[in-house]
Amino acid sequence: MNWESVSVILTTILYMVSAVLFIRGIKLLGKADTARKGNLMSSVGMAIAVVTVLLEKKVTDTLFNDILKNAYIWAAVAILLGGIIGAIWAKKVEMTGMPQLVALFNGFGGLSSLLVALTQYLTDDSVNVFSSIALGLTVAIGAIAFTGSVVAWGKLSGKMFKKNVNIPGKNVINALLALVGLCGIGMYALNIAGILDATMGMVGIIMVSAAFLILGFTMVIAIGGGDMPVIISLLNAFSGLAAAFAGLAISNSVLVVSGCLVGTSGLILTLIMCKAMNRTLYSLLFGSSAGASKKGAAGEQKEPRSMSVEDAYLVLEAASSVVFIPGYGMAVAQAQHAVKELCDKLEANGAEVSFAIHPVAGRMPGHMNVLLAEANVPYEQLKTADEMNPQMPNTDVAIVIGANDVVNPSAINDETSPLYGMPIINAFEARTVFVLKRGKGAGFSGVENPLFTNDNTVMIYGDAKQTVSALVSEFDDK
Ligand code: NDP
Repeated sequence: MNWESVSVILTTILYMVSAVLFIRGIKLLGKADTARKGNLMSSVGMAIAVVTVLLEKKVTDTLFNDILKNAYIWAAVAILLGGIIGAIWAKKVEMTGMPQLVALFNGFGGLSSLLVALTQYLTDDSVNVFSSIALGLTVAIGAIAFTGSVVAWGKLSGKMFKKNVNIPGKNVINALLALVGLCGIGMYALNIAGILDATMGMVGIIMVSAAFLILGFTMVIAIGGGDMPVIISLLNAFSGLAAAFAGLAISNSVLVVSGCLVGTSGLILTLIMCKAMNRTLYSLLFGSSAGASKKGAAGEQKEPRSMSVEDAYLVLEAASSVVFIPGYGMAVAQAQHAVKELCDKLEANGAEVSFAIHPVAGRMPGHMNVLLAEANVPYEQLKTADEMNPQMPNTDVAIVIGANDVVNPSAINDETSPLYGMPIINAFEARTVFVLKRGKGAGFSGVENPLFTNDNTVMIYGDAKQTVSALVSEFDDK
């Protein structure tokens, strides 16, 4: 057996080890107590995959060439730069900033697949028709994931594209862009098959790149509010699919496996989130929330009533059932530990206490569950909207802590609202609703919330942590 065959066998074994580590890692990520181990396992799998790629023949060929052509130098610089930036960023990011970081990571994933495909196009003369189609699809999906994720990042961070822009004839434009891009892939494949010349092949590659870069932009710019978490998950799936096609284009099995894992898990999560949000993939991509009314219904211009912490304590002291509805503001205020203390006081006072958790409360899936678990709130006390809503009319007090969109009744009764159709926690049905927030700020969707002016709602203004701590002190003092 010569060195060439040994190296192929060794590479295959190492790729298989990486794939097993990825799959096992994903399984462990499914549970909070094993998630860190899962993350570490997948990272080790990725490290093995990267080292194996670097040791493959194609890379070693260039080892002793002049410095600019030395692939090891380029790879080392890229790994060092990316690793340092990624580590600092991940360390610094607040939990409330995770979605925009994830959006950027998805975008970079799409961009790298796009660049891999373009490099393959420019440097590899041995592309066959199958790999030319895979290469075209990599360019297409990588491009859409890149620009779509940049728009999503801008919206989530509030830095760009804050307004949902309604592009007239959006679906027709998007369909035309997709058609132009697919024609581009066809032209490149025909060039590889020897039917069209190289210039037409190059025009094809330019067409698919440009069309899908624009499509990512036009697709995501109109999306907002409750649909943002779903689109992020879809873009994540796209970045995985782009990597899988890149793997096919450059015949790298571990890239196919890891891309498929990201792509399929992203698609499954997208479908689960669509179901939870009462949306379909079709309405997400082809509907539009842009341009819809952001105001409450006419006649709802009343001022919200507010209450002092002292008076709120008297209501809570007499309550026999209390439901906490946490949202993004609880995460901003880091009020979860104070909330747990208040929960304990209420239970000691004889009240039955639950937590109603909306699937998109906060800024990432499971955001509230993670925060409340950190504060040792028992898992059994966390209820879904489906479990909690039937109990709401029998609830004495619903305490909305920094939540807004997820308790907005417009989602049920205002067809012009961008939130219309999204399931909510029916806080408005409780006998008394306390809303803890700092002022009159809107939620992520920017939509006004008629709950705040309902007769059974009172606002307790202030930072959520300070307000909840003040309520705990009231219990301590009495
Ligand atoms: P919202 O973003 O709707 O509202 C949060 C509220 O918290 C604001 O109205 C704000 O009002 C208040 N707030 C902010 N800081 C504080 C503080 N320190 N103390 C008290 N209140 C505070 O949050 P929801 O959780 O209700 O809804 C989540 C939204 O985010 C949905 O629209 C969802 O689609 C979107 N989203 C969710 C993602 C996910 O995966 N979960 C990802 C991306 C977007 P004020 O300024 O007056 O205090």
